[in-house]
Amino acid sequence: MAQASRKVKQMITASVTREGDGFLVHRPFPSRTLLDFDPFLLLDEMGPMENEPGQAKGAPDHPHRGFETVTYMLSGCFEHKDSFGHQGKLAPGDVQWMTAGSGVIHSEMPEEAFLRQGGLLHGIQLWVNLPKKEKMTSPSYQEIKSQDIPVGKSSDGKVSVKVIAGVAYAQKAVIQTKTPIIYLHASIQPGGRWTQVVPKEYNAFAYILEGQGLFNKQPIKDVKYSEAHQLLLFENDSDEIEIVVPAELNSTLEVLLIAGVPLNEPVVRYGPFVMNTEEEIRQAFIDYHAGKMGIIKA
Ligand code: FE
Repeated sequence: MAQASRKVKQMITASVTREGDGFLVHRPFPSRTLLDFDPFLLLDEMGPMENEPGQAKGAPDHPHRGFETVTYMLSGCFEHKDSFGHQGKLAPGDVQWMTAGSGVIHSEMPEEAFLRQGGLLHGIQLWVNLPKKEKMTSPSYQEIKSQDIPVGKSSDGKVSVKVIAGVAYAQKAVIQTKTPIIYLHASIQPGGRWTQVVPKEYNAFAYILEGQGLFNKQPIKDVKYSEAHQLLLFENDSDEIEIVVPAELNSTLEVLLIAGVPLNEPVVRYGPFVMNTEEEIRQAFIDYHAGKMGIIKA
């Protein structure tokens, strides 16, 4: 008998907030109902937001220590600069996996031409916690262009999956992760069915960007189909996740499936720093103010 797919244990609708200079964010967590989802600390959907020329906003210079920030651009273009002289551009479909480790100060701002012209800004930022032994590792980056992200496809062509981390349809990600992480972006057409292996020990969630679908064949909270800005947390009751888009629907479901093996370590967070103890947080502030995380040169 085929094994059953994972059940959904909770559905959370993202709250709308403003970040950085004031750009619109849909944030499913952290929130009062869900502080974190080990090993994940935060999920932000930036936008979607239509910007007039000159109006796009970003997040000017700010520090991070003790975790990783993963930025996945969907629409618009961001420019990134940091205190180690690193600089890069993120165009639609590109991914930047930044290991902040012992500390980095960076700015995430709209790219010049995008700022000038305006347009739709849409992206995802995920914070991945680092285990105690990696928190003070040297900062590093993996920057992957859209065309270099492997894409897996179902045999009927109805499911297409961008493999940012992990494996799907035998396509293996190029990004290396510090702990086992799965990060997939699936596009599922009406009549499509996606079954993905996610070992039981991984905490897993799905986040809907666009369209509607059924998770483990179940309507959730009496809502017929799950939809955009909803986060679905899965039980750890099976090694498989199933997402279906019934043929009666007329749009493609765009959904992220993200999973990781929990660290099971104490989490002490204060704004941009996430450590294991209060003392380490105090030290992060001391190091930051002493300039040990560097400064961004103009
Ligand atoms: Fe940041």
